[in-house]
Amino acid sequence: MSKMDNIVSLCKRRGFIFPGSDVYGGFAGTWDFGPLGVMLKKNLTDLWWNFWVEKRDDMFGVDAAILMNPRTWVASGHTATFADPLVECKACHGRFRADKIADGISESVTTEEFKALNVKCPTCGKTDWGPIRKFNMMFETHVGAVLPEDANGTKEEQELSKRSVAYLRPETAQGIFTNYKNVVDTLYPDLPFGLAQQGKAFRNEISPRDFILRDRECSQMEIEYFINPKDWESEFEKLLKETHYFLEEKIGLNASDLEDLEVAPADRAHYSKRTIDVMFNYPNGEEELMGIAYRTDFDLKNIERESGKSMEYRDKVTNESFVPHVIEPSIGVERLILAILSTAYVEEPVEGKDETRTVLKLPESLAPYKFCVSPLLKNKPELVEKAREVYDLLKEKYTFVTWDDSGNIGKRYRKQDEIGTPKCVVVDFDSLEDGTVTVRDRDTTAQIRLKPEEL
Ligand SMILES: [Zn+2]
Repeated sequence: MSKMDNIVSLCKRRGFIFPGSDVYGGFAGTWDFGPLGVMLKKNLTDLWWNFWVEKRDDMFGVDAAILMNPRTWVASGHTATFADPLVECKACHGRFRADKIADGISESVTTEEFKALNVKCPTCGKTDWGPIRKFNMMFETHVGAVLPEDANGTKEEQELSKRSVAYLRPETAQGIFTNYKNVVDTLYPDLPFGLAQQGKAFRNEISPRDFILRDRECSQMEIEYFINPKDWESEFEKLLKETHYFLEEKIGLNASDLEDLEVAPADRAHYSKRTIDVMFNYPNGEEELMGIAYRTDFDLKNIERESGKSMEYRDKVTNESFVPHVIEPSIGVERLILAILSTAYVEEPVEGKDETRTVLKLPESLAPYKFCVSPLLKNKPELVEKAREVYDLLKEKYTFVTWDDSGNIGKRYRKQDEIGTPKCVVVDFDSLEDGTVTVRDRDTTAQIRLKPEEL
């Protein structure tokens, strides 16, 4: 099994991540977080929020509705251009993203360019392709009481039905931009300031793949950092540096797995003057982990045009008025979780034994549980009682503490290693004599004896 398969298997076996709608055979491009996955995800999103918002004076949070006025997506350009190149195999009718089944072509590949490559259909191996079509990735829905017959009814009814079309947001960013004016009017923060948001975004990916890397429903953590355009270069550098500090120091990714890819002008969104894709060395190859884009005043200017409202900011010192520019660090939670899991996942030989153990070497701040407490034997009431005391003490202090009295001690260690619990605490017969407990370290497997109060 590949490393990716092993991670997927561990995630399911230990209750981190299940296939979406598993009981009905799954639902492509969706994944559900189980009890341990929720804890990991919450630790991660809390850590991000604490680092980028709570600890800073220049960042504020918003939490916008997922359903937004459809004019949002007209103004942002999503209804016109948020599309992937879709190509259909005429032989087997399989549908693919053209730029994902051929090497070295971009999203703007033309039918002629694609046909010239003689790409084989990944399903049937033929090379008989239809034209490249632009496939809009936004999920459409209807708002209010729209009945199926409205679409076939009178012109008026059809118009009504069209007007009620809304989209599940394809990015959280627009929920920030549309609140920019409200925040300026209410808080009037000093420039530069950032607005941060965490939440769901939806993309109708043509071919979801690689576990949680490319899914149809994902969680994003985005910041729109509003600046005076004259400062864009230095502000960009600062955000890039802080991003690396967060990825490497706060959540433990290895610098050697990260690469800053300077996106070439031809590949950047037309309004962006600089974009860096932070790439990560995933088990199945290098992929984009996150992006930092200088979006200029593109979004606020679009909103000005579409809404007719001024997006200008009056500088408190110079009194000068202008539309701020924006730098956007944007990251997908699931992509980040996969990067964390593939960094933490280790199979290593057990010292002195002819076996290997699987360990998730998660940073303590992300591990679902900080401690596991157990009695050496579960049929000795005096051990169980003492262990319960220790458990209550640690639970009070650290909250994220689990109890395990199943199987033998070796099995418990293996399970706790696999879910990334940094410390296992065992109450044995010596504990009844001298009050100390065995504390076993996840990464080194070294054991020491301590008084529970010393933990
Ligand atoms: Zn085919």
